[in-house]
Amino acid sequence: MEHTHSAPRAHAANIDTDRLAAEMTEQFRQVLSSKRMNELTSRSSQSRSSSPAPRDFGTPQPPPSQSAPPTYASLRNIPLVPEAPHDARSLRFKNMLVSLSNMPVRWENPGLLDEALRVIPLEQIYGEAEEESQILQAEAESMSAGKKAAWGYQDCVVRALLRWFKRSFFSWVNNPPCSRCYSPTVAVGITSPLPDEQARGANTVEAYRCSHDACKNYERFPRYNDAFVLLQTRKGRCGEWANCFTMLCRAVGSRVRWVWNAEDHVWTEVYSVHRRRWVHVDVCEEAWDKPRLYTDGWGKKLSYCIAFSADGAMDVTRRYVRDAKHAAERNRAPEAVFLHIMDEIRAMRRSNMSKQDKFRLHGDDMREAKELRANVISSIAIAVIQLSPEDIVNAQVTRRQDSDAQKALEGRLSGNTQWIRSRGEGGQSNQQDPRNQHPR
Ligand SMILES: [Zn+2]
Repeated sequence: MEHTHSAPRAHAANIDTDRLAAEMTEQFRQVLSSKRMNELTSRSSQSRSSSPAPRDFGTPQPPPSQSAPPTYASLRNIPLVPEAPHDARSLRFKNMLVSLSNMPVRWENPGLLDEALRVIPLEQIYGEAEEESQILQAEAESMSAGKKAAWGYQDCVVRALLRWFKRSFFSWVNNPPCSRCYSPTVAVGITSPLPDEQARGANTVEAYRCSHDACKNYERFPRYNDAFVLLQTRKGRCGEWANCFTMLCRAVGSRVRWVWNAEDHVWTEVYSVHRRRWVHVDVCEEAWDKPRLYTDGWGKKLSYCIAFSADGAMDVTRRYVRDAKHAAERNRAPEAVFLHIMDEIRAMRRSNMSKQDKFRLHGDDMREAKELRANVISSIAIAVIQLSPEDIVNAQVTRRQDSDAQKALEGRLSGNTQWIRSRGEGGQSNQQDPRNQHPR
């Protein structure tokens, strides 16, 4: 079932949805009520049919057993009190997050950003952005007077940058081909960096061996994470792509975030001033504002998605995981400890700021927290609307196809088929195989 209503009819559609929801609620109430009634009658008839236990009138009776108090499990995520990490596991998680949080700080380097602007074909990017934003503006006006364009000019700049980066600038590396005979290579493991590789910031080097019998040449693939070096090498996998691209977005003047995901992926978020919210961008997939790509598209379960910026850190998991079936267990630290770690990282990033700046950023954080909570609430509402009363009562919770948001989300595109399958990111039919995972 697909809902494809166009924007001008959205208002009417909303009213329909409301009416539908009200009808459903009423139906649901009736079915539940009759079910409860049936249960009650069957229970009381059962107790009536079973003969009462013989009573000893001489000894005091225990008080009539009351039904257990409700557990209120759904209220479990009422505000937790942050708690400092004490156990080794939580401390390891903290150290890792603190170290990851440094990435966006390294881009705040005028020399690097100037170099980036020399590499970007600015005229082309700004030309495309100008054209697209005019089209979006005209589209909006043709629908109704005073309607806001879907995206603003700066959003279109980042969209143009995204297309250029994916199509003409960076290339993807699975196994590097043999540089001597161009035959395919086979991975043979990790080796230590040579002095010049180390000098350019590579901590690990992947080794590959040529598959041609007469050659057997070794190839090295140093994993650089210095954005300056990546402007020259222009190749890699998600790690290199997200690092270099996010830095370029910063170079063209956007507020940026680097999102780390515990299931071995990284991507970008840019702040849309036009929409007043953070927008998901995955340069490997040329994806713009498709936060459900990894769950509904690739079929992954995610535990932690954490966004780091030069002036903050935010747990944005709820932007990417909208329902329980795509949530992986969060077991790297107790949630109260995780909150504490995030508070600490934020405080560290803001330690040299004025009171006003801290106050403003805190306001941003609160607004976003509200937006993320609304994601969860709306996904619950959608799930409920899509269930028929009988579904709920019979516990046959088969979700129907979600509306627009999920449309045309497919499995992963970047990387070759074998690699994608080994990571379980092909969407639809594949299973994750944890034994066979490449680094990002
Ligand atoms: Zn070779």
